[in-house]
Amino acid sequence: MAIQVNKQFLDKGQVEKMIEWLAAFGQTEHGGVTRLLYSQAWLEAQQALKNKMDQMKLQTHFDSVGNLFGRLPGTDPNGKTILTGSHIDTVVDGGKYDGAFGIIASFVAVLRLFETYGYPKKSIEVVSFCEEEGSRFPLTFWGSRNICGHYTLQRVKGILDAEGRSFLDAMKFAGFDPHAYTPPVRGDIERFIEMHIEQGKVLEKNQNQVGIVSHIVGQRRYTIQLKGESNHAGTTPMQYRKDAVTAASRLISFLTEKTNEVDTGLVATVGRLQVKPNVPNVVAGQVEFSLDIRHHQENVIDQYCGEIFAEFERVTNNLEIELFISQWMDVKPVQMDVQMGELARRIAEQKNIRYQSIISGAGHDAQVFGEVCPTTLLFVPSHQGISHSPSEFTKLDDLELGIDLLTEILYELAY
Ligand SMILES: [Zn+2]
Repeated sequence: MAIQVNKQFLDKGQVEKMIEWLAAFGQTEHGGVTRLLYSQAWLEAQQALKNKMDQMKLQTHFDSVGNLFGRLPGTDPNGKTILTGSHIDTVVDGGKYDGAFGIIASFVAVLRLFETYGYPKKSIEVVSFCEEEGSRFPLTFWGSRNICGHYTLQRVKGILDAEGRSFLDAMKFAGFDPHAYTPPVRGDIERFIEMHIEQGKVLEKNQNQVGIVSHIVGQRRYTIQLKGESNHAGTTPMQYRKDAVTAASRLISFLTEKTNEVDTGLVATVGRLQVKPNVPNVVAGQVEFSLDIRHHQENVIDQYCGEIFAEFERVTNNLEIELFISQWMDVKPVQMDVQMGELARRIAEQKNIRYQSIISGAGHDAQVFGEVCPTTLLFVPSHQGISHSPSEFTKLDDLELGIDLLTEILYELAY
């Protein structure tokens, strides 16, 4: 049956209406959105999206983990598929645009293409990934990592949410019975294109309308433990102390100042600090802090870690403090496809869209696909850089320009 495009999707205001429509699933009292994996709101949103895709006669299906696909079939029977979309889940009290805009942009782009040009040569599929944020269970990219074959059901056995509900139980609740699981790996994906809000201030500051992502940063996370000696704050002379707070403050100052020296694009964050016993009149015997390091080049991260950890050893030795460094995350930087980046640039220039090359400091589904097929990630501006908040906002004009660019890229690739 032929695709039926409702002409309203060609109207500019329709995009804004769709953002509001999708945001109603899981709307919070502050005007934000909470749509956690396999929750009632999540289920209703995925189902509603499927209904909308069905109405337009896209070929829809859910895979066995709840990723939703809407396919505009290509005329070439041997052609591979161009996949485009983003994630449906949100953080707790997140915004209306993170993830959702990428799905809507892809959906609208595909409908507009069909309305203008009919069926493509290569199939285009809109995807609404079931999970990316890691906001309900302690794992991320459940949707894209299943499609790319990096995860199977094995990965989530025994995992619980904050309320003690098991991952497998939650899956079953949403209608995806773990017993019916088959790995939803796709071998037919030629390329992946994701449109997303920037979640930073760079585009807005530079008054640019689109960001063409060159790299997604690598991330390492550590827990640093310092063990000294708890003692009396009044009777322990300064030279006899093994003060874990003093040591921590030196390490944190050092690691912060060192970032710029190694590379101005390098970021390092100590976001969590725990002191024991955490009492005003006791010298602290123990400190534990988190360390999050990001850059788009592995060798820069290597160099930085080498230098700070050598200094950590030196400082803690001098202060007679025991040092324990444990790493619990290591995500490699991923480069986006250079040729597709060039194509995006060329189209942006033709359309007089103000664009720039940009590095993504946040993780996205595109980094998972970037390891298995040519992948493009495009950003539209985030007002004041605010994200993961009900205040998340992008102007309609910017949303439309993003969709314009995406539509044109899909045309070049599929028609
Ligand atoms: Zn996102």
